[in-house]
Amino acid sequence: MDSSYLLSTINPVIGLLLTLTFFLIWKRHPEKLHILNWALGFAAGSLGFGFEFFHFFIANFRFENGVNTLLPLSILFSVRGLCLRYRGHSPDSTLLVLVTVTTAIAFGMSSEHHYAHIRGMVISCGVAVMLILAMQAMTRARTWNRIDLCIFLALLSLTVLLPLRPLASFLIEGAADIGTLEVTSFWVVSLKIAGLYAWVAFAILFLLRIAADLLAELHEEMVTDSLSGILNRRGFFETAGTVIREASPKLPVSLLLLDIDHFKKVNDTYGHQVGDEVIRGVAGVMLENSPETAVIGRLGGEEFAILIPNTSRRSAFAFAEALRLNLEAQTHPEIHADHPVTVSIGLAEGTGGPLDELVRDADVALYKAKNGGRNQVAAVGGEAFRGHAMRTPRRLVRALR
Ligand code: GH3
Ligand code: MG
Ligand code: MG
Repeated sequence: MDSSYLLSTINPVIGLLLTLTFFLIWKRHPEKLHILNWALGFAAGSLGFGFEFFHFFIANFRFENGVNTLLPLSILFSVRGLCLRYRGHSPDSTLLVLVTVTTAIAFGMSSEHHYAHIRGMVISCGVAVMLILAMQAMTRARTWNRIDLCIFLALLSLTVLLPLRPLASFLIEGAADIGTLEVTSFWVVSLKIAGLYAWVAFAILFLLRIAADLLAELHEEMVTDSLSGILNRRGFFETAGTVIREASPKLPVSLLLLDIDHFKKVNDTYGHQVGDEVIRGVAGVMLENSPETAVIGRLGGEEFAILIPNTSRRSAFAFAEALRLNLEAQTHPEIHADHPVTVSIGLAEGTGGPLDELVRDADVALYKAKNGGRNQVAAVGGEAFRGHAMRTPRRLVRALR
């Protein structure tokens, strides 16, 4: 025996290393089933190529049987992973039918006549249909970036190139019998090289996808307030910073700064946990009543901010007053009805200046609202007032939404 069997270890070993890599990532994120499927995809492929290695040592070992079954299975798991990642579910029955039919035809052919290129064409076409299903799932995804585009293009190239390999093999080597094929034949070498290229390309792209997903989740965590679920200070300033860039004298933005009145008393009387519940409740009312385009955040403690794009101070004042009334009317299960939780709101309008300046203005207004006796809305340059300013606040809130 010459040393050519050493070459047949490349694909199985690389496949095993990739399996291990994806499996270890999945172990840390067991809820991400698409990663497990990608690991299984590499495992099946690795075993499939591994069969060729045994062929060197076991007489009459028909390694194409392993390839017939395990390579389509490898694609099935990879496609399943893609469908789960991009669509949330996978067309399992369709995939199973495709693998079964493809494998059955390929097996049927290998027992009767051994024309490698025809079997290869059958398997390639079955696999290509599965890849088309993956591309279809990707087009349904809500967001796409460059990584997704690369994955899509890689899938598309593989779909087109797969049937070309058996065709090229037929043109170069003629109708070949798998039993007489040399390990150096175009058929065998092209299969191994195509497998290796596809593996390395998809492994890199899948790893990039996983890394980008994890970074996005980390960022989401970094900008979310864990108590109330709305944006935290960092998240608010990040998002509001981009919104305010669009502001102009014709398209002003309005900023509301809200601070719960006498919150220390809530904590002292009912305990810190009830205080936390109140913070959650206030955030919920803000979310429920604000326009969809509003940027809502908890700046710290019991202080919140709402930035409303494309809204003048006048309309924002009406909204703030309605929100104040809604918050005052909100009941909190653990708090006595005689102690309504109220907020003071400071309001400022921005027409293109920096966000810091707008926050400073709203803070001055908030200070005014607190000094004016709390439970009221105040705007810089305007008057603080309570209650009577709004005739139909709920209707206005709806109109604003
Ligand atoms: P004012 O009407 O002047 O705003 O009075 P206040 O009592 O609300 O005054 P202040 O803003 O000084 O008090 C805020 C309190 O909020 C102090 C702090 O103990 C409490 N606090 C800050 N963060 C949290 C939190 O996450 N949970 C709870 N339960 N309390 C918090
Ligand atoms: Mg307060
Ligand atoms: Mg405060």
